[in-house]
Amino acid sequence: MFFLFPLFHIIYLRTLLSHENIFLHLIGGVALFFIMHNLGPSIGYHKLFAHAAFVPRSFYPFLSVYISMLCFVGGPLGYTVIHTLHHKYADQEMDPHAPNRGRLYAYMGWMLTFKLKEIPKMVLKLRKQYPWMSSIENWDVVVLSLSYLLFYYISVSLFLCILLGGLLSGHLNGLVNAFAHCNHGDLGDSDLSLDRPFFAKYLNQVFNHRNHHVNLHNYDTTTFLAKDDQVFFIKYFLQKK
Ligand SMILES: [Zn+2]
Ligand SMILES: [Zn+2]
Repeated sequence: MFFLFPLFHIIYLRTLLSHENIFLHLIGGVALFFIMHNLGPSIGYHKLFAHAAFVPRSFYPFLSVYISMLCFVGGPLGYTVIHTLHHKYADQEMDPHAPNRGRLYAYMGWMLTFKLKEIPKMVLKLRKQYPWMSSIENWDVVVLSLSYLLFYYISVSLFLCILLGGLLSGHLNGLVNAFAHCNHGDLGDSDLSLDRPFFAKYLNQVFNHRNHHVNLHNYDTTTFLAKDDQVFFIKYFLQKK
């Protein structure tokens, strides 16, 4: 994904600049970014898989994996490994993307150097709960490439809007990793997560990041404690009745 992500920026820009109605395609891409990011990485990978925040309707795990793959996040098990270790070892040596190794490292660079030393229990649980996940885990590049090829041949406008949505979603994940934790000092033994209210309001609530690290139950839609922007949508459309 480290190489594919920049490559798709070039493909996107070349296609966009040779097309009419650039502005309309930008608006369409930004609109799709909010839909794709929420349905894929934010509610699916983050809340459902990494935090087991709710019991989903049967279609939703498949949908969220497909959308997240289009958003350059990779497979669900890999994401869950990284995110679970991030919470467990926040800003310590074992944190996969602590920004006190550098903002750019936290944004993307960690993908080149990360070495798996521990498989979190949550991943074993996911494998058991969704046996199909292991078989699709490493097919993300194929799924992503074939899907965008298909979108291109169906409609260049469709391709441009979905691809911009996916690229922006990938950047949002990088932004959270790089700027929702403090980068001062050496790798320490404390959680240096920060709240970024502006980004939380206009981009995604995950930027209320200190709050997320300290109050993990805020995301648990199976309890009455859950309180965030996505709860209503999850309860009515994605949660098993
Ligand atoms: Zn989290
Ligand atoms: Zn964090």
